[in-house]
Amino acid sequence: MNQNDRKNQGQDPAMEEKKPPKVNRTIVLTRETADGIITFAKSWHPNEGILILRGQHQHKNAQVHIDGLVVPPFASHGPYYSGFPSYDLPFDLSYIGTAHSHPGGSNRPSLQDLNNFFGLVSIIISFPYDENCIGAFDRNGKSLPLIIA
Ligand SMILES: [Zn+2]
Repeated sequence: MNQNDRKNQGQDPAMEEKKPPKVNRTIVLTRETADGIITFAKSWHPNEGILILRGQHQHKNAQVHIDGLVVPPFASHGPYYSGFPSYDLPFDLSYIGTAHSHPGGSNRPSLQDLNNFFGLVSIIISFPYDENCIGAFDRNGKSLPLIIA
């Protein structure tokens, strides 16, 4: 018997049940960040624009605070697609998601958006790019509560 076997056998089965309860994360955008996303989306219209979100995941109150934007290097922008090669990004734990624009009417994530999900949250802003056009989604495409504060 090697060490690994011994470790597995000694594992407490109760550990399995200690998974945290499913909580809905709330996304908190600073006013400045929301304005930045709006301005960026407008500047790329009629193409999509994409940004990286910086912030912190506050586990204790299940909030994701977003307080910074980074323009991704080597991003591509088209009317139906925007993206960036995530392997070119520096490893940075403050990169917690992306924001991109939908020049069309809907801020729901597309299948492609979900397949290219990066981080904890995807923020999507749709035309005409005001505060009410901003949506936040998790990697399953589920809408998350969003606060601009
Ligand atoms: Zn999209």
